[in-house]
Amino acid sequence: MTGGLPAGTGPVEPTVDVVDVVDVVVVGAGLAGLAAATELEAAGRRVQVVEALPRVGGRTASHHRYGQALDAGGAYVGTRHTRVRELARRFGLPLIPTAAPGVNLYDLRSEPVRADAGRPAFNALAVGDALDRLDDLAADVPPTDPRTAADAAELDRLTVAGWAARELAHPDARLLVDLLVRQMLAADPADVSLLHLLFYLSSGGGLHYLTAFSGGAQQDRIAGGAHLLADRMAAALARPVRLGTPVTDLRPGDGSHPVRVVGPGLAVRCAWVVVAVPPGPAARIRSLPPGVRQPPAPARTMGATVKLHLVYDCPFWTDAGLSGWVTAGTGPLRYVVDDSAGRAGLGVLVGFVTGPDAHRYAAQAPAVRRAAVLDRLAGWFGPAARRPLALLERDWQAEPTVEGCYAAVPEPGWWTTAGRPAWSATAPDGPVLWAGTERSPEFYGHLEGAVRSGQRAARQIVAADAATGRVVR
Ligand SMILES: Cc1cc2nc3c(=O)[nH]c(=O)nc-3n(C[C@H](O)[C@H](O)[C@H](O)COP(=O)(O)OP(=O)(O)OC[C@H]3O[C@@H](n4cnc5c(N)ncnc54)[C@H](O)[C@@H]3O)c2cc1C
Repeated sequence: MTGGLPAGTGPVEPTVDVVDVVDVVVVGAGLAGLAAATELEAAGRRVQVVEALPRVGGRTASHHRYGQALDAGGAYVGTRHTRVRELARRFGLPLIPTAAPGVNLYDLRSEPVRADAGRPAFNALAVGDALDRLDDLAADVPPTDPRTAADAAELDRLTVAGWAARELAHPDARLLVDLLVRQMLAADPADVSLLHLLFYLSSGGGLHYLTAFSGGAQQDRIAGGAHLLADRMAAALARPVRLGTPVTDLRPGDGSHPVRVVGPGLAVRCAWVVVAVPPGPAARIRSLPPGVRQPPAPARTMGATVKLHLVYDCPFWTDAGLSGWVTAGTGPLRYVVDDSAGRAGLGVLVGFVTGPDAHRYAAQAPAVRRAAVLDRLAGWFGPAARRPLALLERDWQAEPTVEGCYAAVPEPGWWTTAGRPAWSATAPDGPVLWAGTERSPEFYGHLEGAVRSGQRAARQIVAADAATGRVVR
């Protein structure tokens, strides 16, 4: 059907296809949006998911090479990521443990040092103490509202780099904290407030949990790729996800369907909207219905990562007893892990280029990038590292509907000046709800946070309908 819609308050009406009148429109088919839609359908709602990209999954996506799906985006599922684990089970997706046996390498200053070397790579006492101090500080930051932490304003003004310079006497402790922030938040510690780091640690289960593979946040990955979870959730929905349709406007509808969701060739009237897109793209959705405002979100300040996969015909580094895991003090490649488990004998290394390194790296010519990466790997694993079957890159800053990763990183001062977090509302204060990993006080920035935020929005809608007696058709 085309056209014929009542005029809205926005600019001139485009000619549109009316997909339908539904109970709920979910904007964004990442894990947050799909989790919301799955839960809402289970509660009997008619749901239309609308996605800008021609695929579902958002920040989960895969390269397919040599018979393998390689996670170009979110991958690891931790032991405490209970909702993702439950969904994986429900949709028939086994998990593969990620731990790689062998010795880790640290290349912190002038040359790589094996973790089992007689001369340690860093002062473990000083580094351990710094990490314990961060975990202790994080324990006092409530993830539900970091603004209520003691000295929140000061913690928010202080950058992690500033804190480390002031509080950590040993240079190894300062260096390892710097590297941790680059790895975990994909940002420069000089750009991250101490309060945000502490919130992130508190939200995600603490520093020791967040950095661990066995028993930690990197315990498993989804066999066949994390994107499969999104694919299967989308395929199980009663209505196909409307792909390739960026939502541009939320306009007023009529009485029982107060919102009209508008995009190129699309207008859907609905009772509720769940906006499950990252904060930057969410801020570009125009013409919110009267009374609806986007709650504070750390818009436009995303972390930055180029994620690399190097595929080899075997995990040759294990011959030297190495695990494939490297932490490096200089870029572009500061962090490498083995991703070979369950890969039919292939050797796969995953590399992360993060923060300012990622922006510089992405601006270089492909041949320059390749040479830089292979030089580093050869220095760690020997000449065989120069001969990958494939070197694959994914630059998340270049994805206009995501704008970076792993998640938004607010600028110093943001938390204590922006207002109440989106998740603080216990019930919807209008027909528009906000989801996405950046809207989760639990496991912010993780797949788990995305799923929890979507399920939370769905449950709030169901509860609000029950409270008002709204009839679900
Ligand atoms: C390289 C990388 C590595 C990561 N590693 C891990 C990891 O190992 N473990 C982990 O737990 N997490 C990891 N993450 C983070 C994790 O992937 C994300 O937290 C999670 O996928 C976010 O899901 P989401 O649904 O909140 O948002 P998204 O996945 O970003 O989904 C939002 C969707 O909204 C769509 N959209 C945007 N604007 C519009 C619009 N106007 N109209 C319609 N649709 C729109 C987007 O196209 C997108 O599909 C990683 C992320 C990346 C990129």
